[in-house]
Amino acid sequence: MNNFQLTTTQMLERAEKYFSQKEVVSRTDLKVHRLTYKEVGQRCRSLSDSLEALGIKKGDRIGTLGWNHHRHLEAYFAVPNMNAVLHTINFRLPQEHLIYVINDAEDKVLLIDAQFIGLIEAIKDEIPSVQHVILMTDEENIPETSLPSVYLYESLIEQGDPTYQYPENIQENDPAGMCYTSATTGKPKGVVYTHRSTFLHSMALGLAETTGVQEEDVSLPLVPMFHVNAWGFPYAATWFGTKQVLPGPNVTPQLILELIEQEKVTMSAGVPTIWLGVAQALEQGNYDTSSLKAVICGGSAAPKSLIALYEDRFNIPFIHAYGMTETSPVATLSRPLSKHKELSREEQLDIKATQGRVVPGLEVRIINENGEVPADGETMGELTIRGPWITDQYYNAPDKTAESVKDGWLYTGDIATIDEDGFIQVVDRTKDLVKSGGEWISTVALENGLMAHEAVAEASVIGIPHEKWQERPLGVVVLKEGADVTKEELFEFITPMFVKWWLPDDIVFVNEIPKTSVGKFLKRALRDELSDYYLQEQ
Ligand code: AMP
Repeated sequence: MNNFQLTTTQMLERAEKYFSQKEVVSRTDLKVHRLTYKEVGQRCRSLSDSLEALGIKKGDRIGTLGWNHHRHLEAYFAVPNMNAVLHTINFRLPQEHLIYVINDAEDKVLLIDAQFIGLIEAIKDEIPSVQHVILMTDEENIPETSLPSVYLYESLIEQGDPTYQYPENIQENDPAGMCYTSATTGKPKGVVYTHRSTFLHSMALGLAETTGVQEEDVSLPLVPMFHVNAWGFPYAATWFGTKQVLPGPNVTPQLILELIEQEKVTMSAGVPTIWLGVAQALEQGNYDTSSLKAVICGGSAAPKSLIALYEDRFNIPFIHAYGMTETSPVATLSRPLSKHKELSREEQLDIKATQGRVVPGLEVRIINENGEVPADGETMGELTIRGPWITDQYYNAPDKTAESVKDGWLYTGDIATIDEDGFIQVVDRTKDLVKSGGEWISTVALENGLMAHEAVAEASVIGIPHEKWQERPLGVVVLKEGADVTKEELFEFITPMFVKWWLPDDIVFVNEIPKTSVGKFLKRALRDELSDYYLQEQ
């Protein structure tokens, strides 16, 4: 067989050749853009040509700070296709982490949305590798800025050659992109994706067994393009000729629902907090969501009640997926098997609420102190994973690599069980598990129990120090607008679901649960704020 190199160039060229008239719809802060893949392809080539004119060479890193829009999509291809490396940066990082990731990656050029110019001005003296900043904006003039070398993206597109030819000697193991984990403790850790890993991960997204994204779909990625390549959807969708809707800045549940209705979106991906918000808006407003074939939810555990709400009340198929920055990210995904059709609805929902089975191409093992755990759906251990789109190292960080990669397996830091069909249930992050009297309590399970109550909008469970049991669970609940329920009623509701010693010691009501920059519950902050407060009150 051909020793054909698997690169991102092929993905874009396929879209240009066979789907030249299909659409990319992109919302920026000033307007909605509608482009064809032909135009996107030409703009990618112009951008690559202009970056070359700015001195970018093979292996150079280009950072981006941008929302989900067409210019960011163009960078997704223009940069790796010229054999440079796309470093997507989370613009919500604290300043010291922003400086750290830009320096660690040694970004030469930054492509930024105009609104982030202040962020870069504030750190410009501390990021010496950055030679040029390119503003991804609709404005026709460069705003007043203290940055030394600033270009307008659109001027570079005009100046570049839209027929620029990509190098043919790109090797599949060349780096194509990089992303840093959004660290809640310590420094962010860099993960480098290769052309090959991006190619194979995108191909896996197209399997009927996974998301099955294909030409007839309309894809709306809500997960940010700075976070693990928006779960790979921009790559897969372009390759397969799928219409893309890129929602731009300041995305609200109402906007999401309007885009779904107007653009006939069939597939959309986001974290549970996004889908919780959309569910509330759906309950209040009247939107046509009949085009949706699937909402894909991952990044944290999707509560069973949320899945039931989407599927049984809104008639929207819901797919729960699991992954991490280190796994490109899609690693497991929950689709019931043919034999599960016989089961009751409740049992089917239990299966849908697991993190699902490993995507073909990858392998998983769950390991505890006795070795690999039995596939009994009960024994807990750490989820380990390997395969062609799983990282085998952290960038510039051999000590972090040694902690997480052993004998070719990535140790995820997630505690899980696995059943005989391979369905994985993540019970917690190692750091979030509550260890009560030496036994583990799954905060994820308790959260799901609490969130099943109709008055509860969001729930998080944290461990608080306890004299006798070392740690005990504390439930933290945000109620839905206008809803009313007492602590006692909530206890009554969850008591039948758990063994007694798993039940939280107390439940407190708050207005908001702090979230990470990618919308996950920030348990560390909750623990810091709440356990002190709670213990003082006792
Ligand atoms: P990140 O690298 O920021 O995407 O975070 C990855 C982590 O998110 C994983 O190690 C899990 O702890 C968590 N995670 C992702 N998807 C899920 C899921 N479906 N259920 C539970 N936890 C998840």
